[in-house]
Amino acid sequence: MAEETPRAFVCGHPVAHSRSPLIHGYWLQEHGIAGIYERRDVAPEAFETFLRGLARSPYVGGNVTIPHKESAHLLVDRRDEAAEIIGAVNTLWFEDGSLCGGNTDAYGFAANLDSAAPCWAEGSVATVLGAGGAARAVVHALRERGMREIRIVNRTLARAEELAYRFAGPASAHGWDALPELLADTALLVNTTSLGMDGAAALVLDLAPLPSSAVVTDIVYVPLETPFLVKAKQRGLRTVDGLGMLLHQAVPGFERWFGVRPEVTPRLRALVVADLEATA
Ligand code: NAP
Repeated sequence: MAEETPRAFVCGHPVAHSRSPLIHGYWLQEHGIAGIYERRDVAPEAFETFLRGLARSPYVGGNVTIPHKESAHLLVDRRDEAAEIIGAVNTLWFEDGSLCGGNTDAYGFAANLDSAAPCWAEGSVATVLGAGGAARAVVHALRERGMREIRIVNRTLARAEELAYRFAGPASAHGWDALPELLADTALLVNTTSLGMDGAAALVLDLAPLPSSAVVTDIVYVPLETPFLVKAKQRGLRTVDGLGMLLHQAVPGFERWFGVRPEVTPRLRALVVADLEATA
């Protein structure tokens, strides 16, 4: 292999399920770039050594996924603003010899809504279900886009409170029992819990109080059409599935490593949907 072949990775544990190689492989081919993007299964106890060895490796950068996003945040030399605020890193690259970490999940979340439900941010009141790692990126995106109110609703109220404290200003914390009241003027409802994921319990929620203009989105994308989205559709609401977030979050990394800003197209989406269906 020629030394100058740009090479990137996704590292996680496990990592076999990651669709990132499919996405980046598609773009490499589409743009005729002789690059490589590969999976690296790195156990938590080996992650620091892996990261510290990157500068002497053939890699130009890569993605970081579960369970390494928080460790990467602590270990990189520099972080972008999103990573700093969210407290997790999902994209690595080098700048002047320093290992840099960024977080593109917030970008991916907003870009998906921009593409599938333009004007989504105009309603300016969002309700976010969940307060885990993904919720941090979602709340950051919502604050960046100027949402006036971001209500964080979580089973464990203390986690919602911690998140609301982190994003002080528009964010507030609530328990599930507050939902009927909160939904009444919600313009954007986001599920960031793992409920509804294949193998997990369903997200059971009465959507009747939502205004008919509300946009409902689920960041869970396995299955693509979660029971939560099915219910929202049945109510005639605009819905956005979570696959677009995954596709859009990959754009900035590809551009950094391979020098071309790729596009999220219906063809790419169809390719990943086919893969999800094949492995369902
Ligand atoms: P996480 O940090 O483990 O957080 C899980 C969240 O789900 C917590 O708020 C948790 O509430 C809640 N939850 C779990 N089981 C519940 C239950 N039985 N009842 C009520 N709430 C429950 O997970 P994460 O990293 O944020 O990921 C969440 C989901 O987002 C996953 O399905 C993941 O695949 C998906 N995701 C999608 C994308 C994308 O690109 N589309 C990106 C990132 C993540 P407690 O705090 O009370 O435990």
